[in-house]
Amino acid sequence: MISILGLLCYYGVSYYNYMNSGVIYVDPSLETMVEEWKSEMTEHGIPYEDQYKRIRRIEIVNDYGVAGQCDHTNRIIRIDRNQLSKGYYTSKVILWHELGHYVFDLDHTDGIMKSHTYSEELYKQNWEEMKVEYLNQIRNGL
Ligand SMILES: [Zn+2]
Repeated sequence: MISILGLLCYYGVSYYNYMNSGVIYVDPSLETMVEEWKSEMTEHGIPYEDQYKRIRRIEIVNDYGVAGQCDHTNRIIRIDRNQLSKGYYTSKVILWHELGHYVFDLDHTDGIMKSHTYSEELYKQNWEEMKVEYLNQIRNGL
């Protein structure tokens, strides 16, 4: 009985460590943008670490059929390569959108959390406003 409990405990600890060992892979072309997102969260006093650490991979995929995907089961955020080629702001919106789903359980609303995408130009012109809206959405859910 004691040995079984010991074993269960061991697996419990291993699983806990596995769950908390952090993001193991971020596509190199997304690294700067992920760091930027983290800095913004820190700057605005939004705690993100616990849930963020549960992500295993943030990767770029080809022709996945969606702009981005938040896969909780496999703990992967996927960003479509075609979206990235549209420009800096489009890439940022899609990354922030998926991180919003993953880390803060945000639902679809408007702006960054809209379920469909706008143009690079519109994102560029409205970035600050959309960012404020996104941060408020997070704060309201905390
Ligand atoms: Zn979404």
